[in-house]
Amino acid sequence: MSTKKVPLRQCIGCGEMKSKKEMIRILRTESEGFVVDATGRKNGRGAYLCPSMECFKKAVKNKGLERSFKMAVPKEVYESLEKEMEQLGE
Ligand SMILES: [Zn+2]
Repeated sequence: MSTKKVPLRQCIGCGEMKSKKEMIRILRTESEGFVVDATGRKNGRGAYLCPSMECFKKAVKNKGLERSFKMAVPKEVYESLEKEMEQLGE
């Protein structure tokens, strides 16, 4: 019997633990600054968010991004995240 261990990440919006494959990653890289990484392939320090507008709104409200990166997050980052959520929705 093999139980595959799925790495879990905490959503910065709702606080639930989920498999990182189900989530959107927000990264801070040296070269590009903050990027929204839907593929999860880039390296860097990341924060995770469920792909839902509700979690996004919660994250905005509770400053989840600021808390995870321990720094101010430019509003452009929120804008691109919001766009990402809209694309994922209908
Ligand atoms: Zn969530």
